[in-house]
Amino acid sequence: MTGTDDVGGAGTPTPRTLRIDVFSIFPSLVDDFCAESLLGRARTRGLLDLRCHDLREHTTDRHRTVDDAPFGGGAGMVMRPEPIFASVEAVDPPRPLFLLSPGGRRFDQAMATEMASIDGFSLLCGRYEGVDHRVRRHLVDDEISIGDVVLSGGEVAACLIIEAVTRLRDGAMGNAQSPITESFGASGLLEEPQYTRPAEFRGEAVPDVLLSGDHARIERYRSAQRLHRTLRERPDLIDARGGLSASETRLLEEFPADPYH
Ligand code: SAH
Repeated sequence: MTGTDDVGGAGTPTPRTLRIDVFSIFPSLVDDFCAESLLGRARTRGLLDLRCHDLREHTTDRHRTVDDAPFGGGAGMVMRPEPIFASVEAVDPPRPLFLLSPGGRRFDQAMATEMASIDGFSLLCGRYEGVDHRVRRHLVDDEISIGDVVLSGGEVAACLIIEAVTRLRDGAMGNAQSPITESFGASGLLEEPQYTRPAEFRGEAVPDVLLSGDHARIERYRSAQRLHRTLRERPDLIDARGGLSASETRLLEEFPADPYH
């Protein structure tokens, strides 16, 4: 499959819809973030079907309480299991359902690519000190962390994941080449430095080769700069792909690192 459906067997293939359900006590944080720019356009064009659900709609008390003190004592509050189970069961959202949690699997471009290849998934945002452990054991399919850092809630993490995944879907980005050459793309390297007009700015000129019009040479130059930049800033990425090939070593000799980089 190419990720497209040929509707009616004729005409332009229509990109498929990605459905994402988000469960949160602040659904508008995610909904509003995803209303602008690339995500907003993806929604308008039917590429992204984002549904943000308010966990408080499934509380039963007057104060719409979603949290309670931890058994055994200790700091902070814990999200109760009932509203979370009730919300998820009422919607029967697309699976896998991921709990956002600092202890989860670390999100990266490879995971984003994997998630962009399926047609739906769901995200559960915690708040306070996190969620009752029974949610983790019996409701969610997996846990995702956006990095070794602690946020106050899962909403920013959800926005980050939605954006990283949606832009990889067919039709979401103007330029279909971008996911290939950009950082962590198919090359496994960081992107090379980019320039736009003016050709000289505050005494610093754009490298001559980029103005040469020689596209084959520009491509080789750019590949070399990707390698230089990655070697300097993220040598671990070079190690992960098994070091440099002989042709890459030649490329680095042909084009030394730009003095400004
Ligand atoms: N007490 C928890 C942190 C809770 S932070 C602990 O020590 O692990 C509150 C909520 O923010 C979490 O339930 C989670 O949904 C979200 N969150 C915080 N940091 C996150 C991260 N690095 N990745 C994904 N979600 C995170």
